[in-house]
Amino acid sequence: MVSVDFELRKKVMDAHIGDTLKYCYQCNRCTDVCPVSQIAPDRYNPRGNIMASFLGINLFMGQKDNFGIWGCTVCDTCDEICPQKIELTEIFTVLKNMSIAAGEGPDYYTTQASTIYDAGKAIPSQPAIERRREQLGLPKVEEPDVSEVQKILNVTKLNKILNK
Ligand code: SF4
Ligand code: SF4
Repeated sequence: MVSVDFELRKKVMDAHIGDTLKYCYQCNRCTDVCPVSQIAPDRYNPRGNIMASFLGINLFMGQKDNFGIWGCTVCDTCDEICPQKIELTEIFTVLKNMSIAAGEGPDYYTTQASTIYDAGKAIPSQPAIERRREQLGLPKVEEPDVSEVQKILNVTKLNKILNK
């Protein structure tokens, strides 16, 4: 029997566009245009995610395969096509944040987050990149203040998730 996860429903509905989900009439246009659904129709379905989010049916957490939410590349194609102007990707971000908070985020995501935490940016400077920039006559890239970046990320409690 399918049960309602009220906490999940509350979190989704508390998001700033949460209440727009009630205007979804399941036309399926979002899924029709979704490039991920076209390649992996059995594993990713934005229309289904919107329906489950609105009803509070937890198809997302505690799953062995979390591609059902992390498959979204945030290309925004569904947002643009939705006749009800629902910003689906905003809700998918809420689901992804819940997945991270539950310690279920995919490794590629936490590894990238860890790099940003340690270096203050996603792609740390490397001698080869610096040399190439110099050859091209480009200015040196200013290094970020890592402690400032970490201070901000600590407020979001990312350090706890990353065990930093
Ligand atoms: S395109 Fe919009 S209205 Fe249609 S199913 Fe997707 S979210 Fe619902
Ligand atoms: S934003 Fe995500 S769900 Fe929407 S079309 Fe792109 S990949 Fe699919």
